[in-house]
Amino acid sequence: MQLNTPISQLNRVGKATAKKMERLGIKTALDLLYFFPFRYEDFRRLVPISELKDGETITIRGRVELIANKRSFKKRKIITEALISDESGSVRVVWFNQPFLTKILKIGDVVFLSGKTQADMLGLQFVSPVYEKANKDATTHTARLVPIYPLTAGLTQKQTRFLESQIVGLSQNISEWIPEIILEKFDLAPISEALRGIHFPEDDNDLKQSVERLKFNEWFLLQFKAETARMKRNFESAPILKFKEKEIQDFVKALPFTLTKSQKISAWEILQDITKGKPMNRLLSGDVGSGKTVVAAMAAYSAFLNGYQAAIMAPTEILATQHYNTMVGLLGDKARLCLLTRSQCQISNLQFPINDKIKISKNVLLKEIRNKKVSIIIGTHALLSEKVEFEKLGLVVVDEQHRFGVEQRKIIKEKGGASSNKKGIHFLSMTATPIPRSLALTIYGDLDVSIIDELPLGRKKVLTRLVEPVKREKAYQFIREQIKAGRQAFVICPLIFCDSESETCNLNLEPRAVGAEEKKSVMAEYEKLSKKIFTDLKIGYLHGKQKAKEKEDTMAKFKNKEIDILVSTSVVEVGVDISNASVMMIENADRFGLAQLHQFRGRVGRAEHQSYCLLFTESDAVKATERLRYFEKENNGFKLADKDLEMRGPGEVYGTEQSGMMNLRLAKLTDIGIIKKAKEAARLLAPEAEKYPILAKKMKELETAHLE
Ligand code: ADP
Ligand code: MG
Repeated sequence: MQLNTPISQLNRVGKATAKKMERLGIKTALDLLYFFPFRYEDFRRLVPISELKDGETITIRGRVELIANKRSFKKRKIITEALISDESGSVRVVWFNQPFLTKILKIGDVVFLSGKTQADMLGLQFVSPVYEKANKDATTHTARLVPIYPLTAGLTQKQTRFLESQIVGLSQNISEWIPEIILEKFDLAPISEALRGIHFPEDDNDLKQSVERLKFNEWFLLQFKAETARMKRNFESAPILKFKEKEIQDFVKALPFTLTKSQKISAWEILQDITKGKPMNRLLSGDVGSGKTVVAAMAAYSAFLNGYQAAIMAPTEILATQHYNTMVGLLGDKARLCLLTRSQCQISNLQFPINDKIKISKNVLLKEIRNKKVSIIIGTHALLSEKVEFEKLGLVVVDEQHRFGVEQRKIIKEKGGASSNKKGIHFLSMTATPIPRSLALTIYGDLDVSIIDELPLGRKKVLTRLVEPVKREKAYQFIREQIKAGRQAFVICPLIFCDSESETCNLNLEPRAVGAEEKKSVMAEYEKLSKKIFTDLKIGYLHGKQKAKEKEDTMAKFKNKEIDILVSTSVVEVGVDISNASVMMIENADRFGLAQLHQFRGRVGRAEHQSYCLLFTESDAVKATERLRYFEKENNGFKLADKDLEMRGPGEVYGTEQSGMMNLRLAKLTDIGIIKKAKEAARLLAPEAEKYPILAKKMKELETAHLE
C-alpha cells in the first residue's frame, strides 16, 4: 500500500463507502491519514468486573458466556443480551437493533467492552458498549484513547477507525519537511510520529505532542508564506506618493463632518505608508458605517496629487456605482473620475462634477484611462479585464476584499502601467468584516492593518429585537407606521425561491439544523407582502439571480423612494447606503452568522432617524436563540466577530476562500503559544529559505493544491 493508494483498495471499502468518504474529501490513503479526529473517548481504564461502579466510562475484558437476540415489549426493537465474565465476576450487556451481533460475538470469545455502566433493579449492566475481540496485539476501538472522527451520515466511527488502522503505518512514509534545527529548538515531534499519534495515541503526552506538531505545521506554513511575501515586498519598489499636507488639509476642512479619531489615525497610517517607496499592503478594517470610504478617498486623492492613477474596485455593480457617486461628490471638482462596470461607463466632468456625470462608450472610456485623461477609476471586476490598461497606476483600493481572490489581486497589481516601470503598486483592502487586530495579523501575516473602531459621533444605535412569531402582525404594523412617517424598510430572506427549488437557493448560510423549519424565500415573501400584507405600498425585490441591470434599477428605485419595502437576499449585505431606510427585518435570522447579521443591520441607521432591526426565527434551538439574544444586545462588530469565531470558527466567519487559503484543520485561534513558536520559526527560516529545498517544495505543493 502507498500513500496514493485509492481508499477503494482498502479492506472492506465498497463503492458506497468510497463515495461517502469522497464526500469528506477523502480519496487516497494520504487523505485518510490527514483526516483527523475531533475528539477522543478515554476507554483506558480497564478494571475487573467485580470492581465496576454505576455510571463509569470504563473498559472490561471478559469471555462471552451467553449471547442472544430478543424482541422488546413493543416489538419494535431487537435487543441483543449477553453475559460477560472474567475471573472476578460477570456483568450483563445489552445492545439495541444490532441483531448481527450474535453472528460476530460467539460464546467463548474473549472481548473488550468499552462504555458506560448503568444500574437497574438487577444490578449493573453495560448499555451499547463498543466491543472488540481480544485476538490482536493492540486494540483499536476499546481499552485505549479512542479517536472520534467528524463523520457524515452513513459512515460509522468503527468503520473509519478500521480504515485508519489499515493506513496509519504509512505515516512512516511521510518525509519530514521541517528542518531539524526547528524541530529541536521548539521540541516538536517528527511528522510521522505525529500522524500516527493523532489517530492512535499511546498516552496523553503522545496525543499532546502529536496535536501540537500538526497544529504547528498549519501555523508555520501560514506564517512562513507571510514572512516570505513580506521579505519579497521589501525588495520591491513602488511609487513614492508624497504627503501633500496643504491639499489634504483643505480636503478634510471641506468635508461636511469632522473625521473621527480613528479615521484620522487610519488616514495618517495610509498616507505615510505610501510615501516610502515600498508597496503598501494594508487592510483597512472598520465596522459598517464607520466611514472607510472617505479614508480611501484621501488615499486616492494623494495618488492623484502625485500624478498617479488610483483604481477602486468593489464587488458589485451597486456598490461600485455608489462609490462612484460618493467619490465624485468628494473629489469631482479636483480630479476626473470614471465608472467602469460590465454594463455601465461614466465619466465625470470637472466643471459640474455632481450634476453632470456623462455616459460614454466603453471604447472611449478605455482610451481615456489609457491616456491618463482620468485619474480615479472606479469599477467592479470589469477593471481586471485585459482591455483595461492604465497609464500610471499607483494605488489600488479594494472594497470588501474578502470577495476578491488572491489571483484577481495579482492581475490588477500587474497592471501597473507603462510609465510606472513595472514598479509595485500600493494596495489598500477595505473590509467591514470586523477582524480583530490579532486575528488579522495571524491570518494575513503579510498585511499591515489599520482599524476604524468607532462610529461617527451622533450616530444612533440601531434598536434590535428578536420578535416572537406571534407578534409578526405587530411588526408589520410597525413597519407600516415607519413608512407612513416617510421611511423605508428592508426584508431579508435566506432563499431566492422556495425550498422545493432549492437548487437555486443562495449559499452562505448556516448548516441546516436538525428538524429545521421552512426557510423563507424572497419571491414568496414578495408575493405575500405585496398581495396580502401591504397591498397599498410599493414593494420591490432583489436577489443574485437577477441581471445586473435589473438589480441596478431596483436599487435606484429604492434610493429614489419609488419602493417602500425591498425584499432581498444577502446581496444587500455589502456596503449599500440607503440613508432613508429605518427598518431591517430579517427572516430566519438564525440562518445567518452574527457578522453577516451585523452587516445587514448596518444597512440602516445611517442617518439621523432612529432605526430598527427586527429578527425573526422559527427555530427553537437553544443555541440559535442564544446567539440572536446576544446579537440583540451587542452593537460592536468586533465583539460580534469574536463571538462568531468562538461559535463557528474562522472558516465560517471569514469565508471559505480564506479558510482554504489558511489551510487550517486543527489550528485554533486560541493556540497562542503555538502561533508564537510558528512565527518565530518562520522568521528564522524565511531569510535562508533556499537552504531548505524540501520546505520550498512543500510550499509549492500547497499553492498548487489551492489552485485546483
Ligand atoms: P463604511 O465604512 O461602511 O464604508 P461609509 O464610508 O459608507 O461607511 O460611511 C457611512 C456614512 O457615514 C456615509 O454617509 C459618510 O458620508 C458618513 N461619514 C463618514 N465619516 C463620517 C464622520 N466622521 N462623521 C459623520 N459622518 C461620516
Ligand atoms: Mg463601505
